Amino acid sequence: MIVGIDLGTTHSLIGRYGPDGPQLIPNALGSLLTPSAVSVDDQDRIIVGSAARERLVSHPQRSVAAFKRWMGSDRVTALGGHRFRPEELSALILKSLIADAEAATGEKVVEAVISVPAYFSDSQRKATRIAGELAGIKVERLINEPTAAALAYGLQQRDGGGRYLVFDLGGGTFDVSILELFEGIMEVHASAGDNFLGGEDFSRALLEAFLDEHGLSADALAAGERAVLQRRIEGLKHDLALGTEAALEIPLAGQARAWRIDEAGFARICDPLVQRLRAPLERAMRDAKLNPGQLDEIVLVGGASRMPLCARLVSRMFGRLPLRHLNPDEAIGAGACIAAGMKTRHESLEEVILTDVCPHTLGVSTAQEVGNGRFVSGTFSPIIQRNSTVPVSRVERYYPIHDGQKVVHIEVYQGESPRVQNNVLLGNLSIELPPNTASADNPLDIRFTYDVNGLLQVEATAVATGRKRDLVLEKNPGVLSVEEIRARIALLEQIKIHPRDQQENLLMIARAERLYEEHLWARNALQDALLQFRQILESQDPRLIAEHRSHFGELLARIETQGYA
Ligand code: ADP
Ligand code: MG
Repeated sequence: MIVGIDLGTTHSLIGRYGPDGPQLIPNALGSLLTPSAVSVDDQDRIIVGSAARERLVSHPQRSVAAFKRWMGSDRVTALGGHRFRPEELSALILKSLIADAEAATGEKVVEAVISVPAYFSDSQRKATRIAGELAGIKVERLINEPTAAALAYGLQQRDGGGRYLVFDLGGGTFDVSILELFEGIMEVHASAGDNFLGGEDFSRALLEAFLDEHGLSADALAAGERAVLQRRIEGLKHDLALGTEAALEIPLAGQARAWRIDEAGFARICDPLVQRLRAPLERAMRDAKLNPGQLDEIVLVGGASRMPLCARLVSRMFGRLPLRHLNPDEAIGAGACIAAGMKTRHESLEEVILTDVCPHTLGVSTAQEVGNGRFVSGTFSPIIQRNSTVPVSRVERYYPIHDGQKVVHIEVYQGESPRVQNNVLLGNLSIELPPNTASADNPLDIRFTYDVNGLLQVEATAVATGRKRDLVLEKNPGVLSVEEIRARIALLEQIKIHPRDQQENLLMIARAERLYEEHLWARNALQDALLQFRQILESQDPRLIAEHRSHFGELLARIETQGYA
């Protein structure tokens, strides 16, 4: 079966396209959302999802989340006896989602369409595909997240049609896309975004304001305290999305601290972030050559778009209220399922056609003559302009600086600055030119081809000899080589994963350990309950375990709602 996967910074979802449309599949705990968190237990077994998220508090050194932000880099995370690259952590999430989908449907997952932020760069996209490979599935197709959301939205309104702006604020990224739906053709006109702006930044701003007001510094707190505080701040942010005021009480560095904040205070703290949301919105409108009156709907998706300040910003900028028919958590996952259905050519999707754009400008570094034979290097020469419809292939002709030059080094960049130093280096290649030839007779053609998945191919041709060179972007330090991938697949296969049928028990223990960390007053009760539950687990009697789990759950719920005492 081909599945659709939303591999989010905070949450991930899996599903497929069924007879009634997109169908998201619940995990072992019965939830459609699996937290994108990984932890390892004291036997170095892997834990994924809700239990791993709980363990961020109780076992901060052995747990990790929000690693999607590091995709495309070679950053290594040490967890217990393991060391993982970001694409390996993503692969562990994928493996867990796949196991859930296979258990629920009884079918084997062979392939997935995975959604990625429109603003993901070439190396981040490659890392996502490699994560799929590491998890043992084929990933031929990537779909941009806002495009997926628009697909989910557009198909609900099949007869309608019109122009939509999708505003997607997730945990770590912000994406904007402008799309038009017309007689089953879904055309993306423009994408823009910020890869380093999401709900987590609003939490961090809130956390810093709290620390500031209490004269505390994050470094002075123990790792456990920091994790507890982060969790409570996250709760505060969610409360602020529901009411006009929220409060927090927490013991820190041996002292009880209380904080109360209202919506206006939150808006003030977050103003710099809200201002940063504007730029991609304005840019997408400019690139799509639209004014606000020409938009039919504004669709908010992504968990962080629940913050009222998002709707307020959109209303102010576009002079109308945004729509929210879609579940902001599920829209992208549902869209990925539709894309999976399109890939299998599901009959009900046969007449749906989707065109997307390339979100970044792609080009090469050149030297520019400034007179008297003097050259200034580092000038960006675009080959594919941002928001060109994909697939797209363009060629530009360049000349060597010197007569008789034997070789040209080509550096490939993505970005919007006229100086390459401000753009992102994607890779480089060298090509030999025929010797003893005047520059003017020695042109060089550079062809960029950008496919529907957002992957770039670069080819350089020395026109005089017809010699060609392809860019091998695998050389990029952020991208694993074929041999490295093979070695890591073998390594990942040896790693033990916590059994799927134990997920509920595992989550219960992780939750109790997190509460133990958070609530000093409840420690005795939690210690006793944990000991007892562990003993019951040893009995391996499913009925007895289920019964105790339910009592245990009630105790935890009581402690959680009582909160600080
Ligand atoms: P991603 O796609 O990056 O995994 P999600 O779309 O799941 O992200 O959104 C996660 C973000 O949404 C987190 O930063 C979370 O704090 C935020 N979020 C979720 N629900 C709410 C809420 N009710 N109020 C404020 N923020 C929320
Ligand atoms: Mg998302």
